[in-house]
Amino acid sequence: MTTTTTSASAPATGRATRPVIPAARYGERLANARAATAARAAVALLIGVGADLRYLTGYNAMALERLTMLVVPGEGAPFLVAPRLEAMKATGCPAGEAGLVEVIAWDETDDAHALVARELAARTGPGAPSPTRAGRDMAPALVSSGLWAMHVLALHRALPGREFGLATEVLRDLRMVKDPDEVTLLRLAAEAADRVMVGIANGPLIGRTEAEVSREIRERLIAEGHDDAGFAIVASGPNGASPHHEAGERRLQAGEPVVFDIGGTLGGYASDTTRTIWIEGPGHDRPPTAEYRAVHDLVLAANEAAFEAVRPGVSCESIDATARQVIAAGGHGPQFLHRVGHGIGLEGHEEPYLVGGNTEPLRAGVTFSIEPGIYLEGRFGVRIEEIVVCTADGPDALNRVPSGVWAVPG
Ligand code: ZN
Ligand code: ZN
Repeated sequence: MTTTTTSASAPATGRATRPVIPAARYGERLANARAATAARAAVALLIGVGADLRYLTGYNAMALERLTMLVVPGEGAPFLVAPRLEAMKATGCPAGEAGLVEVIAWDETDDAHALVARELAARTGPGAPSPTRAGRDMAPALVSSGLWAMHVLALHRALPGREFGLATEVLRDLRMVKDPDEVTLLRLAAEAADRVMVGIANGPLIGRTEAEVSREIRERLIAEGHDDAGFAIVASGPNGASPHHEAGERRLQAGEPVVFDIGGTLGGYASDTTRTIWIEGPGHDRPPTAEYRAVHDLVLAANEAAFEAVRPGVSCESIDATARQVIAAGGHGPQFLHRVGHGIGLEGHEEPYLVGGNTEPLRAGVTFSIEPGIYLEGRFGVRIEEIVVCTADGPDALNRVPSGVWAVPG
């Protein structure tokens, strides 16, 4: 394999205009969710604040002890229960504004969970006992996976005897496949993160603490259009051997690599990219060691092999295995500590997970990270991470920063 050296120039990216998900799309998503709920023989989806709610309605609410809940019955019209003081916000969300969901406000002294149960019963048909009615009473209610325990327990009390499951069972299939607007938003997020990576690589780095550089990364992510800067891992020297190292007080220095794993959300969609950058000093007198180059080359080879294996029909676990085989053949199998990747969209980590045991086949429109790494405890680590979309023709990388050995003056 060949060693390439990345130059620290800005990636060639044009700034596309940021698409807005049209209201009609929320109508389609709600209809699909409803059909999938009925097909699953579930009574309803009970969706609290979070990515599922945003996916189905465009409503980006804040998770609180006051219940906000979208109810999508398998039969009947969806409705959105919201505290009175947030009713205007809820009504103004894309699905509310388009009349796709009825917003039902509750007052401070109301029992919001009982309201959900009452409205659900009212919409899922008459209460007359019958064999089908009994079947429906047994049908599970599917809650969003991030719903707070206090709400889940209260819903349990409001819907006695009802089985509960996870809404992910029916929404994962819908959310995994991104439409072109979603891919564009992910691409814009990736390109913004790329510009931040190049800006940070241009320095200054030497003598600054990881925490200081991490703060600068977050500021740059916001300056590049991110809504929030979710994380900025700066793992210098031996700290790079801990994949989720928290940026601390260690100062960056010449003659060692630094793992930068950065991301947040832009237009609601997540960015997540990793480069490992060697600091060689202003005089270029501390160039990458042969061992570092070999480890970096191995990680890059694993990354590229996994990337090339992407196409519809290939299983998630086989993408993981492809990367793992390359690293194992290079003698570092045990130092590749984690799965090769995760889905990405409205959440930084979502389905599908590219991990051994996941036989889920890739489909066109599925977006995910490919991020093999090698972690040498007490010494250094290398990870290279890209966001990739599976297309009908194979893989398309959303990140454009070259991934060869990257040495900077610092
Ligand atoms: Zn990452
Ligand atoms: Zn990641």
